[in-house]
Amino acid sequence: AKENGKNNYQFYNEELNKKMKRKMILETYLHKAIEKDELIVHYQPQFDIATYQISGAEALLRWECELGKIPPDEFIPIAEETGLIIPIGEWVLRQACRDVKRFHEKGFTSFPISVNISTRQLMTPNFIDRVRSIVLEEDVNPQLLTLEITESAFLYYEDAKENILELRELGVGVSLDDFGIGYSSLSMIRNIEIDELKIDRSFLNDSFKNNRVQSLLEAIIQIGKKINTKVVVEGIETKEQIELLAVHEVYGQGYYYSKPIPVHEFEEWCLGSRE
Ligand code: C2E
Ligand code: CA
Ligand code: CA
Ligand code: CA
Repeated sequence: AKENGKNNYQFYNEELNKKMKRKMILETYLHKAIEKDELIVHYQPQFDIATYQISGAEALLRWECELGKIPPDEFIPIAEETGLIIPIGEWVLRQACRDVKRFHEKGFTSFPISVNISTRQLMTPNFIDRVRSIVLEEDVNPQLLTLEITESAFLYYEDAKENILELRELGVGVSLDDFGIGYSSLSMIRNIEIDELKIDRSFLNDSFKNNRVQSLLEAIIQIGKKINTKVVVEGIETKEQIELLAVHEVYGQGYYYSKPIPVHEFEEWCLGSRE
């Protein structure tokens, strides 16, 4: 408006400038995040809805730099754009291998750890070789790893399909993350055998507001069961949501059970939840 001497265009430009500056600064910091030891992995337990027993865990990356804690939704896209996701993703995978091996040796867990893989990583020509060497170097049973991919991989359908087949040949599990919110969820499971579906949390979120969404959620669960795929429902925050899911014998993940927690807390958590 005229009063403050700025029009919308100037305002928009300043905002854009601020955003670009922050992005550039973050990019500079992100380049050094590994060597400066600023990255850590948190683990969020998954559980069997019927028994409430822990059934898995997802590795979620955390970054704290001079600017403070930066959420993954902000720095992962920057890592993807700049290609930094390749070394960062390998770092996470290696860390998860070490942790799951230790959990297993100490008898804390018997289940695999899930690691998020960006489409950009999956589509790197030597991705499978890199996964294979990390698994070998860390001397971990590949069956203790599940890799979570999203359907954006299917923009590159043929290559993605090939890589997913090779991952499963290696012995690692493959999970489809954020299932149901993209355009090609169904064609993915039609064309490729996968081990797990993670139903996007928006389905559960909207289920109480909207009967149609609830029916869809239940239908997706049935699809997963019919094709013998493990189904994990994301974003469980309330007891009512657990009750809604209880009849379906699925797996869950969400703040109601546990937030993502640092590795030492996770180990204690596993000790406490044994028995
Ligand atoms: P995602 O893979 O869909 O991970 C689940 C996100 O939901 C996590 O956010 C988790 O903290 C959050 N969450 C878990 N339970 C609940 C709940 O009950 N309610 C709500 N509202 N949220 C819940 P986070 O840790 O902030 O990660 C955001 C995204 O960043 C992830 O979404 C994933 O796409 C990406 N990301 C995180 N770590 C990595 C990584 O190591 N590699 C890659 N490539 N991406 C990562
Ligand atoms: Ca995920
Ligand atoms: Ca997800
Ligand atoms: Ca996601």
